[in-house]
Amino acid sequence: MVIYQFNFRPYKRRFVHPVQTNHGLWEIREGIIIELEQEDGQVGWGEIAPIPWFGSETLDQALEFCQYLPKEINGDVIFSIPDTLPACQFGFETALTPLPSSYIPHSLKLSALLPAGKSAIDAYLPLWQSGYRTFKWKIAVNSIDEELAILELLVQKLPAGAIRLDANAGLGYDEAKLWLETCDKLMSNGVNIEFIEQPLPPSQFEEMLELSVSYKTKLALDESVATLQNLETCYSKGWRQIFVIKPLIIGSPSKLSKFCQQHQIDAVFSSVFETDIGRNAALQLANELSLHHRAVGFGVNHWF
Ligand code: MG
Repeated sequence: MVIYQFNFRPYKRRFVHPVQTNHGLWEIREGIIIELEQEDGQVGWGEIAPIPWFGSETLDQALEFCQYLPKEINGDVIFSIPDTLPACQFGFETALTPLPSSYIPHSLKLSALLPAGKSAIDAYLPLWQSGYRTFKWKIAVNSIDEELAILELLVQKLPAGAIRLDANAGLGYDEAKLWLETCDKLMSNGVNIEFIEQPLPPSQFEEMLELSVSYKTKLALDESVATLQNLETCYSKGWRQIFVIKPLIIGSPSKLSKFCQQHQIDAVFSSVFETDIGRNAALQLANELSLHHRAVGFGVNHWF
C-alpha cells in the first residue's frame, strides 16, 4: 500500500470587497492546503476550504483533524474520513491525484458573480467585455421592491446574457412567488433568466418542490444540497430541477461522481472562493459531471 508523507499549512486571503449575501458579510477566505508526497517524490496538493454556515465543518475542526493525523498516512485513512468533515474528504481525496498546476478545461463556460444591490449594474460591463455571458446576482439582500427595480435595469443592460438569481434561502414564500412571476414575465419577453437559486430555507423543501412545478422559471437548490447526504435526500424526495454543487464542501469526489453519473442530474458546479489548487480539482470534476452543459460558477477571480 502507498504511504504518503503528509503536510499542511493554513492560508488566509482577503476579498477586494467583502462578499455580501443573505448569510452576512464575508471578508477573509481561510482554508488549508495539504500536501501528500509519495516515496518517489511525486507530490499531490489538495485544498480544504470549509463554509460552516453552509453546512460544512468549521476551519477549526478541519485544522484539528489535520493536527491529529500522523506524518505518514495511506489511502485507507483518507477514504475513512467521516461525513462530518466533508471539506476534508474533498481536500484529501483530490490530493491523491496530482493535477497539472493550471488545469482549465476549455469546454467549460464560466458564470460571473456580480456584487449585490445596485453595484451590479456597473459591474457587469467589464465582465461582459472579458467574455462572460452568464451572470449571477445575489437577491434577498435589500428590499424586494428595490431589487425588482434593479433587475429591470439589469436585464435592459444584458440583452443577450443569461441571469441567475441567488436568494441564499432569504425569501419568504410570497416573495418567492413574486420573484417567480416577475421572472416568468421577463422570460416571455425574451429575457434569459436561467434559474432562481435557493429561494427558501432547506426546511421548506416541500414548498420549493411545489414552486418548481408551478412556474416556467426553473429553481436550483444550493443550501439544501450542501453535502452529499443532503443531495441524496433531496433527490429521493423528488427534486428533478437544478442542483448547485460546491465540490469543495460536498464531500467525497468519487462518491459525488458516482451519484451524478447514476442519476444524470442537472448540476451547476460552483466555487467557494477557493485557491487554484481546489479550483483545478473542482473544475476537473465539473468538466466530467456537467451533463447538462451549464456554465460553472467559477467566475470569481475578480473578487480577490
Ligand atoms: Mg447559492
